[in-house]
Amino acid sequence: MNFADHPLFNKIKDTKEVFWMNPNYETTSVYSAEGLTIKDMIEAEERLKRFAPYIEAEFPETSESKGIIESPLRKIDNLKTYMENINNTSIKGRLLLKCDSHLPISGSIKARGGIYEVLKHAEDLALAEGMLSYDEDYSILKEEKFKKFFSQYKIAVGSTGNLGLSIGIMGAALGFRVIVHMSSDARQWKKNLLKRKGVTIIEYESDYSKAVEEGRKQSDLDPLSYFIDDENSKNLFLGYSVAAIRLKEQLEDMEIKVDKKHPLFVYIPCGVGGGPGGVAFGLKNLFGPNVHCFFAEPTHSPCMLVGMMTGLHNRISVQDLGIDNITEADGLAVGRPSGFVGKIMEKILSGIYTVEDNRLYKYLSMLVDTENIYIEPSAAAGFPGPIWLISSTEGREYIESMNLSNKMDNATHIVWATGGNMVPDTIMMSYYHKGKSIR
Ligand SMILES: *Cc1c(COP(=O)(O)O)cnc(C)c1O
Repeated sequence: MNFADHPLFNKIKDTKEVFWMNPNYETTSVYSAEGLTIKDMIEAEERLKRFAPYIEAEFPETSESKGIIESPLRKIDNLKTYMENINNTSIKGRLLLKCDSHLPISGSIKARGGIYEVLKHAEDLALAEGMLSYDEDYSILKEEKFKKFFSQYKIAVGSTGNLGLSIGIMGAALGFRVIVHMSSDARQWKKNLLKRKGVTIIEYESDYSKAVEEGRKQSDLDPLSYFIDDENSKNLFLGYSVAAIRLKEQLEDMEIKVDKKHPLFVYIPCGVGGGPGGVAFGLKNLFGPNVHCFFAEPTHSPCMLVGMMTGLHNRISVQDLGIDNITEADGLAVGRPSGFVGKIMEKILSGIYTVEDNRLYKYLSMLVDTENIYIEPSAAAGFPGPIWLISSTEGREYIESMNLSNKMDNATHIVWATGGNMVPDTIMMSYYHKGKSIR
């Protein structure tokens, strides 16, 4: 079908909220793609385990988890009741919040992919130099000789903020010289925090895609510089995918079943796609057809939606449709999706919905009022997901077509809260009050 003839086309163009079900979704797919398999994901998890003694020594806030960077999975029954009341519906099954907003070290989902790729690069360099071996206790990486060694090298990245934070904090701790190319929408406090850590910030007047492009170009000119490529990196993607292994353990600990009779629905905010894509890839590998993954995007930045609907992926941008890519959901202000991720998602993603900025603030303050949990605006994009699924025609048709109508009482819905813990208190309070002021 011609994209312009699609029933959702005009709504998307007019930045209205939509719910798109992926017509290419397959329940029978093999979940490897672009050369990546479950083996790569397990290898990534093992690498993070090798680094745990170093992380524990360098970042004392991870001592309780012994250097494993992980976030809680929480029941949010008060918010569930509240959501049911205001939407005049009943959310059958359980509603849980995956609190990546509270991941240690950098307070967002980027602490998975971003930190993982920095560690992988450090390990590659140290192994090649003969300074490290797999069976060593990696806490030796805290020694001065490693800092000196890594200081010869640069790490560069283009970011709307949170990826820069993760890579800047971990890169600087290891001793690398880190350069973050920041898009115009990046918040001042993120830039200030990184500058205090000795990270070089290069600012752009334009959006994220330009910051990435410039960063990549400059880094490629320098043989000692390594560019972390948010649009194309397999390592970043694999770092995110490890979340699935950890989530599976958390569900088991809570005695929550996921199987043919107990479907799992996951709602994840999407920017360029690496974070939610990696998580979805991991979940599909572990739970197969019993997990149903949905992405959430701002109505002004529906890049993955447009890329997947047209099949053009990174060959189309929201600007091509006349959409401005201006949203207060900073981590999601991306106009052109990752083609690499979009292709992997073709058969495994169930759908994508869009959210207005105002609704993000409303959910942000509702979560504070009902559960006393603070997250940033972008991180609230997951919340409308269960309501879309239950209340919209598209959602009901999906449930029916998957033969789930009589299993929804056993369902688990996980809203993925992707960031917030690093937001300064005064700014967080202004978000909260903004949410309260919206009717
Ligand atoms: C980056 C980010 C996302 C989305 O991750 P992508 O890899 O860009 O798709 C979601 N929420 C927050 C808070 C983020 O910083």
